[in-house]
Amino acid sequence: MFDSIIDFLFPKYCVGCGKYGNDLCNKCINELSIADQICPECGDDSPMGWVHPKCKKEWGLDGLIVIYDYRDLIIKAAIDGIKFGFNRELAVKLLKNFRFESGVDFDSLVPVPLHFYRENWRGFNQAEVIASLVGGKMKVRVVNMLKRKRRTKQQSLLSDKKDREKNVKGAFVVKKENSFRVKNKKILLIDDVFTSGADMKECTKVLKRAGAEVVWGLALAH
Ligand SMILES: [Zn+2]
Ligand SMILES: [Zn+2]
Repeated sequence: MFDSIIDFLFPKYCVGCGKYGNDLCNKCINELSIADQICPECGDDSPMGWVHPKCKKEWGLDGLIVIYDYRDLIIKAAIDGIKFGFNRELAVKLLKNFRFESGVDFDSLVPVPLHFYRENWRGFNQAEVIASLVGGKMKVRVVNMLKRKRRTKQQSLLSDKKDREKNVKGAFVVKKENSFRVKNKKILLIDDVFTSGADMKECTKVLKRAGAEVVWGLALAH
């Protein structure tokens, strides 16, 4: 009953093909482009997303798991739908066919915090939604252990990689009450899209400086 009322008020159309009845139809889900795994430091191919030994940085990521190819227009539309349409169902669908097994026994999943004025405006952090779905599948708990301590410009408005790095430098901190959850722990950072990776890399630096043993990233797309 409620479903049909909601459906009447907000009719669903597939973000891929526009067909009525579904946010993302099965035909489009089956055609989505799966990402090649890359080294998050140099962007070149890397089996399983491990950081190449030559690319390792002192406070850097140990690896990255990416699911979809962001150049796929349907993926882009679906991620926009999650982010700007607050559509959790789309995230459920994008993750439906995946199991998550990694060689690392993660202690917790940590969403990359949103820019704070945006979070206040929406009260919806897509990274948190993705983290809760992945955490459910991995049976690992999600802990919001990071926060933004200052305003940053929206990364998508900056095209230069260096500008993006500068923009987020010093922007994150570990929340005090969570410091015991960082030291010697294995952490999986979660975000929607990995482009320059500046946010994720800055979060990694903060976690490693606070004593994290291993930090991997997971993004829906790159
Ligand atoms: Zn479709
Ligand atoms: Zn590399």
